[in-house]
Amino acid sequence: MRLKNVPGSREAISDSRYCITEPEEYKGKWHKLFNNDNPIHIEVGMGKGKFLMTLAKLYPDINYIGIEKYSSVLFRALQKMEEEPLDNVILVRMDAEYITDVFESGEVAKIYLNFSDPWPKDRHAKRRLTSRQFLERYDQFLDPDGTVEFKTDNRGLFDFSLEEIEESKWSLLMSTYDLHSDSELCEGNVMTEYEEKFVAEGIPINKLVIKR
Ligand code: SAM
Repeated sequence: MRLKNVPGSREAISDSRYCITEPEEYKGKWHKLFNNDNPIHIEVGMGKGKFLMTLAKLYPDINYIGIEKYSSVLFRALQKMEEEPLDNVILVRMDAEYITDVFESGEVAKIYLNFSDPWPKDRHAKRRLTSRQFLERYDQFLDPDGTVEFKTDNRGLFDFSLEEIEESKWSLLMSTYDLHSDSELCEGNVMTEYEEKFVAEGIPINKLVIKR
């Protein structure tokens, strides 16, 4: 995601009723914030929020939380929410490194990771959202029956993720190196902003789903 500083984005996010900037305060209380007991699904590294908001419209009985590190990016999602408010979406500005401070055990039913930053240098491997460090974090708050769904164009990151899963308590429910060539696997697929771009360029999309 190319980062341009958007003047006023920080303030707009702090003032918005759709955004949470101190998410630790809601640990164990997210259902109250949504005012219902519907399952909570999150996207880590939401970007501009297209994927999350499309899902939220398709599935009004699921609550969606979009997590994004940068105000200037989250601001674009906020602008979409202001144009078309969705009761079942909350936007959170935070670094996912601290995600276990934000969700209580069992509070989240599904985690989406879409086109996560690859962090190509070995010394940055622990920052990858599918590293063993992040898998351990997800384990702390994902419902026992919950799943993590990961899509990426980056074969190196995908292979790294498969290796990390192999070494962990997680097991693979499905995996493909070319999601869009398999009509069965692709059924119901909602494309992210990055995915649309890569698919238009003919780049294959890798996808995996894991559970414990
Ligand atoms: N998921 C979107 C999509 O598929 O179109 C955006 C993909 S973009 C390549 C990755 C996004 O993840 C960026 O907006 C980046 O700021 C965000 N991100 C990366 N690391 C993060 C972290 N540790 N915590 C929260 N967001 C993060």
